Amino acid sequence: MSFSTLGLQPALLESLSSLGYETMTPIQAQSLPPILAGQDVIGQGKTGSGKTAAFGLGLLNRLNAERFQVQALVLCPTRELADQVAREIRRLARATANVKVLTLCGGTPIGPQIGSLEHGAHIIVGTPGRIEDHLRKRTLDLGRLETLVLDEADRMFDMGFESALEAVFGSVPGKRQNLLFSATFPDAIQTVAERHMHNPVRVQV
Ligand code: AMP
Repeated sequence: MSFSTLGLQPALLESLSSLGYETMTPIQAQSLPPILAGQDVIGQGKTGSGKTAAFGLGLLNRLNAERFQVQALVLCPTRELADQVAREIRRLARATANVKVLTLCGGTPIGPQIGSLEHGAHIIVGTPGRIEDHLRKRTLDLGRLETLVLDEADRMFDMGFESALEAVFGSVPGKRQNLLFSATFPDAIQTVAERHMHNPVRVQV
């Protein structure tokens, strides 16, 4: 199925066409309609399924680039994945004017990140521990967040990020869209979904 049936913003359709993405992958075909309708979505899909574009298009379609505040946060288990996700979101946003995507990961000095945050961003992609550090220091304000994405949620739990994730849930508005992607669904993730998500639609590929 073609992306053109979804009612995406014209700039996103232009990016998709310049990237050569013609038809949706199965996870995109199943998850994009509820994502674009603003529903919470739980997706079971691995790397290679096209899940990054699924949530990336969702958060970009909802973004108001004229409002220079953090509107979307994508949490990833590792710096490598965060860099990959940020790159894909920037590619999808290439035809949209002035979208600022910032990565905030551990293992690099925090000072320059604070400087970048002072300049502002629309979308943050990062690892939970470093995001929690910024929340504690009050260098990151998630008070106007619209979309929260947990990518590879099972790996984040395996890596011990549970309390950092709770800190994030405690710092975001109650009214927001939640998108959670995971390869497996252990009890810890079911619990998060029950506690923090609102009538999630489940999609599987
Ligand atoms: P992901 O599973 O998100 O890591 O995506 C896997 C790869 O598929 C990435 O290199 C994407 O650029 C590419 N991709 C995602 N969606 C599409 C699509 N609809 N058509 C062609 N390539 C895609």
